Amino acid sequence: MKRSTIAVSYLPERIEALQEIATNVAWSWNRDARALFGLLDRPLWHLTRHNPLEQLRRVDPGRLATCARNTKFLQLYDRVISDLRANDSNVGTWFAQDYPDLSGRTVAYFCAEFGLHNSVPIYSGGLGVLAGDHCKASSDLGVPLVAVGLLYTQGYFDQRIRLDGWQEDTDERFDPQMGPLESLTGPNGEPWLAVVRAFGRPVHIGAWRMKVGRVPVYLLDTDLEQNDPADRGLASRLYAGGPEQRLKQEWALGIGGVRVLRAVGVDPGEWHANEGHAAFMLVERLREHTAKGTSFDDAMRQVRATSLFTTHTPVPAGHDIFSCDLVEQCTGPVWEELGVGRDAFLRLGYHPTRDHGQFHMAVVAGRLSSRINGVAKRHGEESRRIWHDLWPGRKTSQVPISYVTNGVHLATWMSHRMMALLDNHLGPDWGNRLDDPSLWAQVLTIDDQVLWFVHCELKNILMAFIREQARRRWSDEWKEAQHVVGAGTLLDPDALTIGFGRRFASYKRSTLIFRDIERLRKLLINTWRPVQIVFSGKAHPADEDGKKMLQEVYQFSRDPRLEGRVAFLEDYELHLAHRMVQGVDLWLNLPRPPLEACGTSGMKAALNGVPQLSTLDGWWFEAYDGLNGWAIKPAPEGGEGDDWDAEQLYSLLEDEVVPLFYDRDQHGVPQGWVDKMKHALRTVGERFTARRMVQQYVKTYYAPALRAEAFVDDPPGA
Ligand SMILES: *Cc1c(COP(=O)(O)O)cnc(C)c1O
Repeated sequence: MKRSTIAVSYLPERIEALQEIATNVAWSWNRDARALFGLLDRPLWHLTRHNPLEQLRRVDPGRLATCARNTKFLQLYDRVISDLRANDSNVGTWFAQDYPDLSGRTVAYFCAEFGLHNSVPIYSGGLGVLAGDHCKASSDLGVPLVAVGLLYTQGYFDQRIRLDGWQEDTDERFDPQMGPLESLTGPNGEPWLAVVRAFGRPVHIGAWRMKVGRVPVYLLDTDLEQNDPADRGLASRLYAGGPEQRLKQEWALGIGGVRVLRAVGVDPGEWHANEGHAAFMLVERLREHTAKGTSFDDAMRQVRATSLFTTHTPVPAGHDIFSCDLVEQCTGPVWEELGVGRDAFLRLGYHPTRDHGQFHMAVVAGRLSSRINGVAKRHGEESRRIWHDLWPGRKTSQVPISYVTNGVHLATWMSHRMMALLDNHLGPDWGNRLDDPSLWAQVLTIDDQVLWFVHCELKNILMAFIREQARRRWSDEWKEAQHVVGAGTLLDPDALTIGFGRRFASYKRSTLIFRDIERLRKLLINTWRPVQIVFSGKAHPADEDGKKMLQEVYQFSRDPRLEGRVAFLEDYELHLAHRMVQGVDLWLNLPRPPLEACGTSGMKAALNGVPQLSTLDGWWFEAYDGLNGWAIKPAPEGGEGDDWDAEQLYSLLEDEVVPLFYDRDQHGVPQGWVDKMKHALRTVGERFTARRMVQQYVKTYYAPALRAEAFVDDPPGA
């Protein structure tokens, strides 16, 4: 039985390819395609939260018939079709031009989550959005990437905040039949492509293919009748359940992912494990080699030569560790197929100096990859320090871990209005000159008034969005006026608006700005130069500390002393993130150094001309230049971090940020501020896009591996 997405049968012939457009995620970063769906039925477009398939299913047939006769609609439609059909080949792309010798080769990219669009809820946050941006940029560049992940039918979770500020986690099921997914079947029509043994039982692995422009993403699914009920919901939820569930998910992702690629005839020459969750992909490839009679040591060498591991966090809680007993139960007896003893297999995951009896996914990935990278310059240094023990006897600086700084996908994160401004200023073909640094220098000459005007429009859109959300929540279920205040109904469109949107994890310090409440209060309620803060973010469902921090912030949003100048927006996800990074005046980022590996939301803001104030951690450590925003400098030796940082934060706001924002010329334009905006845009356009990131992965890692160029193999010590 072949499962397939529900067909939209009543599309008029002239516009029947709307279905095809909607089933490739590429529509989401094509300006014309977005405009096309907006034109089709604007209220429905808003109502479905920009979900084109749902829109096509619900749109009135009469409306479709009208569009099929409308010249303007048809012109746009034809342009979109010809644009998106260009995705059928990679002729003329950056990769095809620069790497003609590598045509026909493939890079596999494994990740536990992908954040592509809010209509495909299979991500939880930063890691997923980064993986999504990696796929999109690879598609733009023609990089022959094939991605592998898990299908989550209950996604992460939807957030509802109770009246007392406590986060409740609610579920909305994602029906894959309603997504841009195509179900795959085995050679005899069976609904699975591979079988994996886990905890002594066979688990059948089905797969869905999602097209992200030129990049196919294979999403594994175990919800099949053939499976034991305990395994059917295996991949239903992201980062949920106990260690057993997670281990099984990661085993299915790694082992099942390689087997599914084999089943569909993909033969990658380079394998990229994006974070340790994907490490079993390396183990399966070891097994493939030993099954052919290769010795374990030779198999190690071959797997290492074609593998890259990217580590994403220095925070220990972000690294998966399982007990060896559990790993043995789940994977056993895979070591027999590897031709080694149980202990030799488990040793792949041993940390040399800590956590005896534990199996580290990141250690496995590090042992089985010849190349390892962190995700920003500073995180590279930090990773060399953290993983130093794996290369005992070396200087930290000689630990073979490098870095590729993350970037964000420009066409996804830059607002339509900002792009239109760049069309006017740089010429309509600027999208073809993205690699030219002089292009980005030119943004410094944008007219101040024009840029400020575009920013104010985007800010108004955010304010309208916030009011709409508050109205909906109020009429839905809130009967309490204070809730509506907390939701931002008292925000002032003219006041300096600070955005803070990120996961509630303690190192991100969302409560730092409340450390001296009187000092903050003076800043916020100043009659002439008011300041307001918009918060959003989720705490991991199992993170009680994170939930307490969220509750604290939430309660400040309802504290009458702050006069409605702190707002909390529920359910931080991609759509809301877009609104926020495009519409606030200043992006605030307060991680406790050196714990933020990179951070990307500030980059998204900068692409919309929103400068950042941040500690010198993650990407800001290498991006801040004094012109593009503000930095909290490190505490002098021995100083206490949080107190120092809070002091710096208040002083910067009082002495520099607020005065600059309110210093207006005769047209009401804050020239000094607009200057910061331009520098922020230039910095990120030139150096922090996903395009630059993927190009760097290709040059440094993918292409040399595909060409089997000689490299120094520097395996960790025993
Ligand atoms: C960009 C993004 C993140 C990650 O932001 P950080 O700055 O890395 O914390 C998380 N969630 C969503 C929805 C995002 O868009």
